[in-house]
Amino acid sequence: MTTPARTRVAPSPTGDPHVGTAYMALFDKAWSRKTGGQFVLRIEDTDRNRLVEGSEQQIYDSLRWLGLDADESPEVGGPHAPYKQSERLDTYRPFVEKLIADGHAYYCWCSGERLAQMRAEQQASKQADTGYDRLCLGMTREQRAELPGFSETPVVRMLIPDDLPLSFHDLIRGEVKAPRPDDQVILKADGFPTYHLAVVVDDHLMGITTVVRGEEWISSTPKHLLLYKWLGWQMPDFAHMPLLRNTDKSKISKRKNPAARLLWFREQGYLPEALRNFLQLLAYPPADGEQEVSSFDDFVDGFDWAKVSTVGPIFDVKKLDWLNGVYIRSLPADQLADRIVSYGLESGQWSQIPEGGRELVRAATPLISERLVTLAEALPKLQFFFTPDDQLVINPVAVSKLKDHAAEVLAAAEQTLRQLDDWTTAAIHEALNTALVDGMALKPKFAFAPVRVAITGEQVSPPLFESMEILGKDSSLARIARLKDEL
Ligand code: GLU
Repeated sequence: MTTPARTRVAPSPTGDPHVGTAYMALFDKAWSRKTGGQFVLRIEDTDRNRLVEGSEQQIYDSLRWLGLDADESPEVGGPHAPYKQSERLDTYRPFVEKLIADGHAYYCWCSGERLAQMRAEQQASKQADTGYDRLCLGMTREQRAELPGFSETPVVRMLIPDDLPLSFHDLIRGEVKAPRPDDQVILKADGFPTYHLAVVVDDHLMGITTVVRGEEWISSTPKHLLLYKWLGWQMPDFAHMPLLRNTDKSKISKRKNPAARLLWFREQGYLPEALRNFLQLLAYPPADGEQEVSSFDDFVDGFDWAKVSTVGPIFDVKKLDWLNGVYIRSLPADQLADRIVSYGLESGQWSQIPEGGRELVRAATPLISERLVTLAEALPKLQFFFTPDDQLVINPVAVSKLKDHAAEVLAAAEQTLRQLDDWTTAAIHEALNTALVDGMALKPKFAFAPVRVAITGEQVSPPLFESMEILGKDSSLARIARLKDEL
């Protein structure tokens, strides 16, 4: 039996959440579930210049939307609260003091200008060693103040030893090598810890056993392992996930691909369960005989780090479209209708639910669900139900495609339907068939096209007779009469 894993996702609230955050959270949650442990959400907000207002709330909301909410977080609390680094500043300081006292870290008073100048000189002389030159190492404040490029507020740097191990074990990759690090700053001049210190201290204090994060952090891991060693703490396991890639194999970024934004999926009308399934498929393709459509529980059951590929998975939205359709059609019609209504309100397609709107959407959803790819497409397809008869927009292209006898067809349709008492799909169909196909010797295609344009304003629409039943007799007749008069 594996020991219960405590995992965490640790996003920085620097903009609207990246789809990668959800990808990490999926693995965190799956591994914690598989082992009977817990999944923690920690907000890493020590980089004060990059904070974006509202971003933190978006992280909570979008993970909850995806069903990837954490067991412990700033929102729900937990035994290791606070879970936001800016509220833990007092926590880090004693560890910095200890590292300094033990000779593992030192103050550095070099000003930004001096560091820039040092870097420029290193570059000009094509020096192989481009890290911090350790000017301040071993100096007191007074000694350093005598020299140029002195700043009143020092930072604290790690003293990286020469014999630092540069390889480590990764759950996905096996043995991994990383480049030699610089004397990393761990405490900034503003008194805030850098990511590197805070991540180690918090992962330790929060009892994290498995660190799941993007492969861009591989190069930082030797520094982190060194901090664990210096502080005498047990090291967690590491799983560095491959970065998601665009179909052209480039790294997925919010600048180049709208789908890099987690909120995009919700805005576009994807179902959270479809997106989650899609992210599951990115981890590793299903083995022979395994289903592509699989629940989170299935994913947890079959979860195995060894199966995760190290090649960046391609983020192909076409696959997601397909999955979304599968999930849409697996929902009971009323549930789908309610999601369509919620989406309409959330996206601004509707400012409020029109009178009788929910019932109408429930009645009409079965007419459109077969071809629906996203929730966003639903209300526009159903718009004609909600428009007053005299305001229905009749697409001129649809009108121009009608044959010359369209007005006569509409007159005959109006006449037969006016006498129809049994306003049901089957009866409407039969009445129109008798009057137009039999009575006027028209092919069904030509017989019904004018009626369709009159009722829906378009050449292509949800099934016509069903739509007329839902719309009701009065509206249907009013629309037929209106187009007849306009032709
Ligand atoms: N705050 C880091 C990020 O947003 C977390 C990296 C990690 O998981 O260690 O990428």
